[in-house]
Amino acid sequence: MQNPLLDLGRLPHFDCIEAAHVAPAVLETLAENRAALARLLEQPAPAFASLIEPMEQMQHRLMRVWSPVSHLNAVANNEAMRVAYNTCLPLLTEYSTEIGQNEVLYRAYRSIAEDPATLLDATQRRLLEHALRDFRLAGVGLPEDSKARYKAIMQELVTLQARFEENVLDCMNAWTKVVAAADELAGVPPHVIARARESAAARGIDGWLLTLDQPNYVAVITHADSESLRREFYEAWQTRAAPGSHHDARWDNTALIEAIVKLRHEAAGLIGYRSFAALSLATKMAKSGEEVLAFLSELAEHCVPVARREFAELAGFAGRPLNAWDIAYYSERLQQQRHHIADEELRPYFPLPRVLAGLFRVAERLYGIRIRERAGIPVWHADARYFDVLDGTGQVAGGFYLDAFARPNKRSGAWMDECVGHKRIGGAIAAPVAYLVCNFSPPIGGRPSLLTHDEVLTLFHEFGHGLHHLLTTVPYPSLAGINGVPWDAVELPSQFMENYAWSPEVLGWISGHFETGAALPEEKLRRLLGTRAFLAGLQSVRQLEFALFDFRLHSEFEPGRGARAAEIIAEVRARVAVVPHPPLNRFANSFTHIFSGGYAAGYYSYKWAEVLAADVFAAFEESGIFTAEVARRFLGSILSRGGSRDALEAFVEFRGRKPDIRPLLRQNGIAA
Ligand code: ZN
Repeated sequence: MQNPLLDLGRLPHFDCIEAAHVAPAVLETLAENRAALARLLEQPAPAFASLIEPMEQMQHRLMRVWSPVSHLNAVANNEAMRVAYNTCLPLLTEYSTEIGQNEVLYRAYRSIAEDPATLLDATQRRLLEHALRDFRLAGVGLPEDSKARYKAIMQELVTLQARFEENVLDCMNAWTKVVAAADELAGVPPHVIARARESAAARGIDGWLLTLDQPNYVAVITHADSESLRREFYEAWQTRAAPGSHHDARWDNTALIEAIVKLRHEAAGLIGYRSFAALSLATKMAKSGEEVLAFLSELAEHCVPVARREFAELAGFAGRPLNAWDIAYYSERLQQQRHHIADEELRPYFPLPRVLAGLFRVAERLYGIRIRERAGIPVWHADARYFDVLDGTGQVAGGFYLDAFARPNKRSGAWMDECVGHKRIGGAIAAPVAYLVCNFSPPIGGRPSLLTHDEVLTLFHEFGHGLHHLLTTVPYPSLAGINGVPWDAVELPSQFMENYAWSPEVLGWISGHFETGAALPEEKLRRLLGTRAFLAGLQSVRQLEFALFDFRLHSEFEPGRGARAAEIIAEVRARVAVVPHPPLNRFANSFTHIFSGGYAAGYYSYKWAEVLAADVFAAFEESGIFTAEVARRFLGSILSRGGSRDALEAFVEFRGRKPDIRPLLRQNGIAA
């Protein structure tokens, strides 16, 4: 076969993609795109079909070539792939800035948009509107020297942002804790201990070896009776890629934070924005920084007093002042005392295969689709699986990969990403394909992977993103699925889906004891439901802390003063934090959402969209959560529409009014 990255069948050839294929495939595609663009611009009178549609096709093809590379870099990271990935990042950024700054192309888009003779539908108008905005945001109107500077900044940023994430990953991979005596692990769930035993044996070590992945961290911080073990994990986790004695200084992200924020500020200034936060809002649902800060303040007003009360109760329960590494541990114990339920005791009732079957049933019932696993699809690791999504007529309408388990050299957290974007341009049709990635505890000793209810929520969340991508009907890739959706509305479909994992009916579908098949006993179910708003205040203020830090960091930067990350964190904590964090806590150094991902000056989006999601779900609750008519309207007004229409208009069409904060406060037990 030729270069497998360039052989665009329905799915990527994950069985034969190698690092050596990456740069040649990217270079060839970029060269073809540039040549095609030059030909397109030779047309005397370009029209939508003769210019915009081919541009959409070219971008779609480039994304198809790049998506498997970016995916492999995240889930099967190794030195060769990382070098290949990092070599191409600046090339791709250079190309996209070059397109964004191409004045001839810009004028052609504008003439099509402004020509009164062009007949365009609403989606096509929207596409042009977004494209013209993006030309402006890439600096199309700038003098040549500013254009060049802007382009250089974009290339440097993409490299620094990638390094930020690598530092976090490398630092986590390098850290281990060897435990010599079993009693040091008292309280830690048996499956974690068993895995630690296997890891130690694999490296020829006596005792237990704990790595710093998410399942291990959560298990220790929540369950280890040993305060010193909890503290050690807390310190290792909260100082990832930070200065101090816990990790090697070569992974310290402090200087990168400074450099990234500075460059973002400079880029925003070049295209006429006061700050990077102002630039970020140019593509969001929120209209101004004041609106974002007022929104976060309103939430803080409701949540901080509740969080303070919860924290005092927790300290009262523990009978001593609490440290940051005690919170999860005593929360779990207080929950057991108050609701008579432990996270771990639910695990046997949520085996992954059962949860998946129930989750698919929810989607099938809501949207009339069918989901079937397909064997024999090439994947990047034996853990990964592939599923077809069939429409109401039984035709394959799309598909998704699921890579569910934590392992070394895989980025932590959970996410959905685009493998193939939806496209229907003339005769050229592409069915959407998604990657769903989680970091659950792997199966061990012949036992399936067993999830906590929290992990069940994570799976529902990512699947919600997946449905947004898979059920889109928008023909143009730049507006299909999650593309073109304002970032502060993008968490709506995902957080909406989480609600179903709290429905007693759905809990019946997704639960079944992994040995006996017995359903979750009525009593346990009732108790689980009772925990929904448990310590919701504390959880909310944590999110507010991240959101305020991010937004202020990107609003207040001044070249003379620098990023002031530590100062801003301290100020934000004085206002909304309730749990005392020791000075060594440097969460910003591993805050990949805002320094490597798409959440810069946009972390508030989680809360913003949570309001939308709770309000949308309230509409379902009013008439029954599986009411076909409501689901059809949600699909038709919001879920299938991607970025093809204004997010607020879409919401108002579905709900009959603007978003209301009260359903979320009610959901969290924080009454308005
Ligand atoms: Zn999400």
